Amino acid sequence: MGLNDTPSGERLHIGFFGQRNAGKSSLVNAVTGQELAVVSDRKGTTTDPVYKAMELLPLGPVMIIDTPGYDDSGDLGELRVKKTREILDRTDLAVLVVDAGRGLVSEDRELVDLFQGKKITYLIVFNKEDLMTQAPQADAFYVSALTGRGVHELKERMAALALKAGRDRQERSLVRDLLAPAALAVLVIPIDSAAPRGRIILPQQQVLRDILDGDRMAVCVKESQLQDLLDRLPADPDMVITDSQVFEQVAAIVPDRVPLTSFSILMARYKGFLETAVAGCRQIDRLRDGDRILISEGCTHHRQCDDIGTVKLPRWLRQYTGKDLIIETSSGREFPRDLTSYALVIHCGACMLNPRELKTREGLAVKEGVPFTNYGIAIAHMKGILERSIREVLPFSEA
Ligand code: SF4
Repeated sequence: MGLNDTPSGERLHIGFFGQRNAGKSSLVNAVTGQELAVVSDRKGTTTDPVYKAMELLPLGPVMIIDTPGYDDSGDLGELRVKKTREILDRTDLAVLVVDAGRGLVSEDRELVDLFQGKKITYLIVFNKEDLMTQAPQADAFYVSALTGRGVHELKERMAALALKAGRDRQERSLVRDLLAPAALAVLVIPIDSAAPRGRIILPQQQVLRDILDGDRMAVCVKESQLQDLLDRLPADPDMVITDSQVFEQVAAIVPDRVPLTSFSILMARYKGFLETAVAGCRQIDRLRDGDRILISEGCTHHRQCDDIGTVKLPRWLRQYTGKDLIIETSSGREFPRDLTSYALVIHCGACMLNPRELKTREGLAVKEGVPFTNYGIAIAHMKGILERSIREVLPFSEA
């Protein structure tokens, strides 16, 4: 991801599904205007989903997913359905590509059932219009990836449908709704060895951007500069937002009358799982010797979070509980479907996951009755500062 790119978690995900040889990958290429997926005359050459970020006007940044052929002979029956379901867990809009010459076959209907079962908005597109010999059906939508016919209209339809699917998300804000117009927020950003060189991490960038988008003001400091800043300000700031790792230190500096929260708590609220996470963190107090805990990260390449998930959090959990815990980790798109053996799941801030995917993970845990929380809330709970950190963002919580 480039520095100025929209994070993948903020992009609406549009999945292209269909049979091998329906021309799905060629159509994806025609839509994105680039050689994205492996395309060949041989059937089934796309074996893993391929992700590509693009701008889809007038909608904006999206993530296109080219999925493996649904009739791929390597993945039969249940496995094929399972793999498709996993991709659907992060799909906001599905495009079903059908060979116009063959029409809808049973696998296409299976896919439609899967879309409907997951309540995903979908669009059926008949490709290879240029090769058709029969008369077109009146209500069907035809395109040709080869000649480009209908591709522009397809993009417009996708944008209109995706806009509808994503309207709810666009109406949510990370923090600005908690701040009065022209309010001043102080952002505490540790710059230590775990911070990426030359930039600040995504949740911090996103909070800063949301504050500026909302015409509020922000001052960024390191934790070592916070006291000095507060001394110099003529009045209290309206909110202090800190990295979870230095919460304790920051809470000791910020007067109790000043609202204080963390980036990861704001991110949990934005992703719609704050209530679950607050309830889930109480499980930490009930952990017993031999309990298994899953620590899950949404990406694989962000060193700044690796350190928390694999080193610091396990250490703090063991210290806090005094129990002999079995701690396992997962990262990126890997996430166990069966969580029954875990006593607790602790997820990262999930800035790289779209809301649908995080909701699916939360849903898996809730269905199995496994408490589900996140880094920031677990840390705040163990440090005894949870109540304060959610006071302003979850005012009716009895945490
Ligand atoms: S580990 Fe989670 S919070 Fe950290 S950068 Fe990756 S997705 Fe974002």
